[in-house]
Amino acid sequence: MKQKTLACPECGNKQRIWRKSRRNKAAGHIKHMWCYKCKAVTGHIEQPEHEVGELCKSDMERILRR
Ligand SMILES: [Zn+2]
Repeated sequence: MKQKTLACPECGNKQRIWRKSRRNKAAGHIKHMWCYKCKAVTGHIEQPEHEVGELCKSDMERILRR
């Protein structure tokens, strides 16, 4: 599994997701997902991997529980 960061083009809010590495896509890929700040589905832009890293497992579990 790889951690990815996706940024909302409307408000700049960044959300982190896990993705199976075999299905990994290049940075700049657009993924439509819910932005809780815009309260709408927007085309989130996948960020380069080097911006990802500080999220630990407990953070991920908290996100998944939402
Ligand atoms: Zn947004």
